[in-house]
Amino acid sequence: MDFDQLSTERPTISAKDPEQVLHEVFGYETFRPLQGDIIREVVNGGDALVLMPTGGGKSLCYQVPALVRPGTAVVISPLIALMQDQVAALNELGVRAAFLNSTMDFAQARDTENALMTGELDLLYCAPERLIQPRTLDLLHHASISLFAIDEAHCVSQWGHDFRSDYLELSLLAGEFPSVPRIALTATADERTRKEIAERLSLTEARHFVSGFDRPNIQYRISPKTNANKQLLDFIKAEHEGDCGIVYCLSRNKVDATARMLSDKGYTALPYHAGLSAPDRARHQERFLREDGVIVVATIAFGMGIDKPDVRFVAHLDLPKSLEAYYQETGRAGRDGKPSTAWMVYGLQDVIKLRQMLEGSMGNDQFKRVERQKLDAMLGLCEVTSCRRQVLLRYFGDTLEEPCGNCDTCLNPPETWDGTVAVQKALSCVFRTGQRYGVTYLIDVLRGSENERIRQFGHDKVSTFGIGTELSVNEWKSVYRQLVANGYLRADPEGFGSLQLTEACRPLLKGQEPIQLRKDPAPAKTSGRSGSGSARAKISDQITDQAGWEALRACRKALADKQGVPPYVIFHDTTLFDMLERRPATLSELAEVNGVGAAKLEKYGAIFLEALNGLSPA
Ligand code: ADP
Ligand code: ZN
Repeated sequence: MDFDQLSTERPTISAKDPEQVLHEVFGYETFRPLQGDIIREVVNGGDALVLMPTGGGKSLCYQVPALVRPGTAVVISPLIALMQDQVAALNELGVRAAFLNSTMDFAQARDTENALMTGELDLLYCAPERLIQPRTLDLLHHASISLFAIDEAHCVSQWGHDFRSDYLELSLLAGEFPSVPRIALTATADERTRKEIAERLSLTEARHFVSGFDRPNIQYRISPKTNANKQLLDFIKAEHEGDCGIVYCLSRNKVDATARMLSDKGYTALPYHAGLSAPDRARHQERFLREDGVIVVATIAFGMGIDKPDVRFVAHLDLPKSLEAYYQETGRAGRDGKPSTAWMVYGLQDVIKLRQMLEGSMGNDQFKRVERQKLDAMLGLCEVTSCRRQVLLRYFGDTLEEPCGNCDTCLNPPETWDGTVAVQKALSCVFRTGQRYGVTYLIDVLRGSENERIRQFGHDKVSTFGIGTELSVNEWKSVYRQLVANGYLRADPEGFGSLQLTEACRPLLKGQEPIQLRKDPAPAKTSGRSGSGSARAKISDQITDQAGWEALRACRKALADKQGVPPYVIFHDTTLFDMLERRPATLSELAEVNGVGAAKLEKYGAIFLEALNGLSPA
């Protein structure tokens, strides 16, 4: 392969119409829903607040106006580590982009500043703390600014989980640059956070664009935890062998242990948490972005702004604290629109642990009440017996008319059973033993176990001793989990998991109210992907010419390594897939492939045509 064909010169971009920019620079055929409206609004000088799910295509909403309007667009992003890749990706497209942040030395910063002053930049990425320095603001006043884009705008919200105080100061942009349009973008914002963003960023007059939250290519699955490590291994082995994924755990120790466990089984698994040194974290993130098939095991500290398009699965070994967190974390899967899995196991101990953390946390009552509601909504999703996607979307104010057909409850509808009597026994046992014991003990009493402690405490004499032999230990655990999840029992915050009755359980305790419980599926048949070889099949399953696919990937990897960028910056999987399908033989045929714009056509067209030419006929 002849890499000398790589041209280093950037073709100049002359397109001045949004559609034209979309075709010529980005190589895409049409705008996605809302993109066109948002872009028109900003191009015409209006302000916008954009709420779009991850992978929805937010970047284009400011990148296209940046290329249409005269001057430099300033993009404020909190993620210094990722600016470099974003800028590299734009440079690959022939767009003149640069960044300003604290990682660069004086000379680099001066070069960028000069380029800004002489109008040589289409986009300038800037960290918020850098932007609000008087020196930077002064510079911007002397340059020609086309627009301000405020990415990850939920960082201004104190209610959100990513609050950054620097973001609050961005409100000054409205006063300092009254005639420059501003566009704020986020993927996570309920009604309340959205209002907060609008107020704090002085965007109350801005048009709001809220696109649907559905991520149809993500398959949601939640199973009861039996043996978490084994369940995770079985899942990866059966469905995501060789794929890139993220595994989330709550604690650093568990992250380290899980990464070690996966490595022992032959996977490339890297830990990521705040206890690692900054260089280690950077190195692991880097490998995740650049290598194929890397699994990162992480606390929630990992992932914001990661725009790797081909993350095929996100697995949760611990329960997130809210649906916002769940949605955001699972949303890192499948940004390229290809089938991906959001997989989670959870059990009674998770519920108890989170409830205790919450009650024991600092924070006023108001704060705890909100957090409690959020956790309840999360647990509601876990225990629901109807379509999970409908529950998830309803929480975000979105509706899905029909069950989705791509979540575990749709694929394997869980059975329910009349739990009225069992629940009465379970609650009564809590009451009879003085509301001081945890689940294991309670189940022992119910099942009449020969247990020294039980005899010692005299609980072999209570009326609930031995009245529950009809259910297995796991079935009782499931009963208690559902009772805690649904708020009929609470875990004593100081009492090592001892369970207490709540006001809500009164009618159940008296047997006055019937209750249906979820029957946990047998652990073996968790896979929902089986069957239907529909449009949702994996990319790797759709590839008939494996050798051709490998050849194109090798070509891409060689180019990526040479340029020092992640492979997807050269071309996405979807673009390679399209190439393999269409088998273009000329540059103009190659230009038809989705994701091939003018700059990439010029730089890589010949190399890829040569690679395609060398393949055996389709
Ligand atoms: P977000 O920032 O909203 O998470 P991105 O801006 O990273 O999403 O876009 C997600 C993916 O969709 C990217 O790979 C992007 O290139 C692609 N994309 C965006 N808009 C279009 C479009 N109009 N046509 C085709 N692909 C698009
Ligand atoms: Zn569903």
